[in-house]
Amino acid sequence: MSLSYEATLAWAQAQDAADPLRDFRDEFLIPPHEGRDSYYFCGNSLGLQPRAVRAAIGAELDSWAELAVEGHFKSTLPWLDYHEFVRDDLAAVVGAKSGEVVAMNTLGVNLHLMMVSFYRPTAERHAILIEGGAFPTDRYAVESQIRFHGFDPATSLIELEGDEANGTISMAAIERALAQHGSRIALVMLPGVQYRNGQVFDLKAITELAHSHGCMVGFDLAHAVGNLPLQLHDSGADFAIWCSYKYLNAGPGAVGGAFVHERHAQSTLPRFAGWWGHDKATRFQMGPQFVPTHGADGWQLSNPPILALAPLRVSLEIFRRAGMQRLREKSLKLTGYLDWLVRTQLAEVLEIVTPQEPARRGSQLSLRVIGGRARGRDLFEYLTRHGVTGDWREPDVIRISPAPLYNRYADCLAFAEAVTSWHR
Ligand SMILES: *Cc1c(COP(=O)(O)O)cnc(C)c1O
Repeated sequence: MSLSYEATLAWAQAQDAADPLRDFRDEFLIPPHEGRDSYYFCGNSLGLQPRAVRAAIGAELDSWAELAVEGHFKSTLPWLDYHEFVRDDLAAVVGAKSGEVVAMNTLGVNLHLMMVSFYRPTAERHAILIEGGAFPTDRYAVESQIRFHGFDPATSLIELEGDEANGTISMAAIERALAQHGSRIALVMLPGVQYRNGQVFDLKAITELAHSHGCMVGFDLAHAVGNLPLQLHDSGADFAIWCSYKYLNAGPGAVGGAFVHERHAQSTLPRFAGWWGHDKATRFQMGPQFVPTHGADGWQLSNPPILALAPLRVSLEIFRRAGMQRLREKSLKLTGYLDWLVRTQLAEVLEIVTPQEPARRGSQLSLRVIGGRARGRDLFEYLTRHGVTGDWREPDVIRISPAPLYNRYADCLAFAEAVTSWHR
């Protein structure tokens, strides 16, 4: 990015004033700190609350009060079809066809449901490939599925170690792992964006490579959804799962999502079934035989939590208006500015773990505090006391993620100034 950045408030405020997405910030509730807005860089952990969420939940509470069971049919947005009201916006955010996505459950539950269908180990092909240092849920889930099928994680779980300077993983390393182990790998399960170091993975290249070795491919998009434009359908991935409380701003414990590629729309692979996955046309005949509905919807278990889907509907509507391409354009500049500030102003304090090439990272920069854990904790606590919210990852990393929907260039500058005043 050949922008001429400047470390002055005048420059940052001029960028904010010229930002075509600047008005979206007003649609969010920014947590206050000592009478002013805090500097919130934690949208990669819990996105901020859209103002419209309270009324959207209130409307469903009113329907429940006034219509009770009739709300399934007569609510303004009938509950019977409620998950369908988020479908198209969700599909746009992840680059899928509308029948390939469903909002349901939470990430961990969806990961297990997807593995029930897409991890079908045999005596010859039973391994799962994940990245070393994967998020605990992902590691626990794949390990427990391996055991559930009677295999041993010691031989069936392959963890790909980082081969690049900061511990990130090159495509060449993935190629080597598949060349070596491909014939015994049943499932390749990698992130869209690695949560700890912020590295972006090339979903399409990984899928093509893994498929050429006869493996199924799934992606955990917890840190990718709402952060980067995705092309899930074109990637060819078999499945993907995500949560909606990070970049998607749908609230703590929000309803997650799943993608099932259309080639599996009428899959006869085993699945764990529930009545909401049954063919909609005959669901209420309440017959004993499960007939899955077409597409990702066929993996649903339960009638959806309406009060939890209401915020997701609101937040996805914001993404529709903002557009993932425009968000990404701003994100590249905003994170580019943060990157520039760290390199030019804070090089004695912080080193960037996240890859520097814009195509290999999203909003987040993972910043290692030079000098170790105690120093890192001291800086982190100083930032928190001064109204700068990032998050801490052991042993010495602070993750800072400017979200293009509500963060400003001036926020990035305020972060740099807070670090500088701590360092002095
Ligand atoms: C946030 C996150 C999760 C959380 O899973 P939940 O089921 O939503 O609690 C799992 N995996 C990754 C990679 C994450 O970043």
